[in-house]
Amino acid sequence: MKLHHQIFIAMLLAALAGSLTHPDTTLLGLPLLASYDLIGSLFINALKMVVVPLIVTAIIGGIVGVGDGKNLGRMGLKTVALYLTTSLMAVLVGLMVVNLFTPGVVDGTPAKDMLGLAKDTDNVLASIEGRGAGDFTEILKQMLPPNLIAAAANGQMLGLIVFSLLFGFFLRTEDSPAGQSLRNIIEGIYQVIIKITMLIIRFTPLGVFGLIAATVTRTGLDAIEPLAWFFLTVILALAFHALVFMPALVFLLARRSPLRHLQAMTPALLTAFSSASSAATLPLTMDCVQKRSGVSKRSSSFVLPLGATVNMDGTALYECVAAMFIAQAYGMDLSLATQFMIVITALLTSIGVASIPAASLVAITVILAAIGLPAEALGLILVTDRVLDMFRTAVNVWGDSVVTVLLARSEGEEQVLSLPVAEMEAQAPERAHIGEDQG
Ligand code: ASP
Repeated sequence: MKLHHQIFIAMLLAALAGSLTHPDTTLLGLPLLASYDLIGSLFINALKMVVVPLIVTAIIGGIVGVGDGKNLGRMGLKTVALYLTTSLMAVLVGLMVVNLFTPGVVDGTPAKDMLGLAKDTDNVLASIEGRGAGDFTEILKQMLPPNLIAAAANGQMLGLIVFSLLFGFFLRTEDSPAGQSLRNIIEGIYQVIIKITMLIIRFTPLGVFGLIAATVTRTGLDAIEPLAWFFLTVILALAFHALVFMPALVFLLARRSPLRHLQAMTPALLTAFSSASSAATLPLTMDCVQKRSGVSKRSSSFVLPLGATVNMDGTALYECVAAMFIAQAYGMDLSLATQFMIVITALLTSIGVASIPAASLVAITVILAAIGLPAEALGLILVTDRVLDMFRTAVNVWGDSVVTVLLARSEGEEQVLSLPVAEMEAQAPERAHIGEDQG
């Protein structure tokens, strides 16, 4: 059976198992929720275990493979431009939809009281601790961490990326025998990490089962009800961005079938959905983009790790909708200037938030502060956060993969999405070196 079918079935079984389980149910003396958690954590841990070496070797190898400085500059500029434009579009879609639906206003009255705003500030603030950078100066500081190992250990990938970019840049022109050996070693590590990744990927259905079953057991579906309008607004906006705008780019700019790309990305998207972490999903994202969509290693190996960290369309959109919703619920006057402020802050903070579950929340407190609302207003949206996190993370990963396809096509890669997924996968070994001699 195909991997994404296995994952689908695992998700359905997990939803069933989760809805039959209460947090304290046991089976033969075994606490079920703890067992789901264990399975899910083992899978996520395994993925996270490969993320640091994968990011470092993929980026360094990617830069070395791109060849001369001119190519590098051109691809770098295109990547940044595409990431920024698509994220901005996502925020604007969110802004449009939230203005259209005004989920924070019920029957003409701000919904603050109706929603029973959580008063417990400590709880709200504790739930966002350690979620990564909020404001812009923090992002800059993260880019140059004083201690690289500590940054990597704390999941602050931005520093690791900047270091790897620099390392790759100088290793590229290092002509000594030592430089050559180093290039070989890095390529070797990358190949081995990919093999470990492939082993972990085989366990995806099991891991996804654990993650979803635990979430459904814990959250249930009732949590969504009081915030149904807000929930729907976010889902609609995400769906428009992911299923209309991004596919249009694939169709018009890359001249390829968006449906085929979606099909190719299914295992990664389902994992993103289940894990709510684009960093943990990165190994799968790279695997799908390269093997199933046929993008060369040259075009994907520094674009994807970078995207997983800085390009978060779903997150940027969510931040904007959530902040607007809270402001509406508080009965704030949403002038154009305020909305502009929300758009810019959502865009910038989406670059800095960590690619881990619930990371958006910290960014939303920054936006709230910027427009003069208290951080505890976040309490309004905590109940729905986990489920919406799953959707926005899938959109984050989808956004990265679409930009990678656009870049690869603009670099003249004919093979991208040119065959059905199964054939593409079968021919993956033959494509391994596409683009490497273009430098
Ligand atoms: N969970 C998201 C991600 O990993 C970040 C967020 O929006 O909270 O991409």
